[in-house]
Amino acid sequence: MALTSTNKIDLTHLLDPDNISLYPDDPAFKCCPIATVSNDSYSVHSLSLGSHTGTHIDAPSHFIEGGITIDEVPLEQTTDRKAIAVDLTYKKGGEKITWEEDLADKLAALSVNLEGLVLLLYTGWSKYWGTPTYTESYPFLDRRAAEQLLFRGIKTIGMDTLSPDQIDGPEGYGVHNSILGAGGLLVENLNNLSALVEGETVAEVMVSFVPLSLKGCDGSPVRAFGWKVWKD
Ligand SMILES: [Zn+2]
Repeated sequence: MALTSTNKIDLTHLLDPDNISLYPDDPAFKCCPIATVSNDSYSVHSLSLGSHTGTHIDAPSHFIEGGITIDEVPLEQTTDRKAIAVDLTYKKGGEKITWEEDLADKLAALSVNLEGLVLLLYTGWSKYWGTPTYTESYPFLDRRAAEQLLFRGIKTIGMDTLSPDQIDGPEGYGVHNSILGAGGLLVENLNNLSALVEGETVAEVMVSFVPLSLKGCDGSPVRAFGWKVWKD
């Protein structure tokens, strides 16, 4: 195993009400002081946000009736995961990421068993965070590509965009339904994947994305971070 770095790279967007991208109709993010050190001798804030605010995980119950909820997702599925990050920064907004054109050759070139790995789709879209471009048009994953990934045992997909599905696209929530329907996880609105990929076309990395334990909830904001370690 080649150890290149164990420095943690933060893959999380700062939750800042003045610089945020939200899915249409999702609730606003608020972090308001209700006590301050100067007035009360201690500081406390109230938080108001949605279960899919900022960098977050979708649990299967987000789309699947009877699917497991975020508090039921085992820690093993969200921490210390081996991952493959694929550079897709050549894709444009509204363009489809397909199995044949964008993933098959790159994953085959690694010569690793894909079973149980996390796939990270690095589109570079995080640079548009907080702007209309982020929510209006971004590269999205073809449902058939998601099915190819599932067939090879990849059930967790992370991306630096709002959604793996095209917003208001003709295929609806096809990727959400495929991945979450298979008991997998989606991690959305990742940040800073460039620091993890470091100019490689395909990078073998480690990731954790740690949700809150929210009873019965369909997702949770996470602190996501990655590091470089594994090469079998
Ligand atoms: Zn979500």
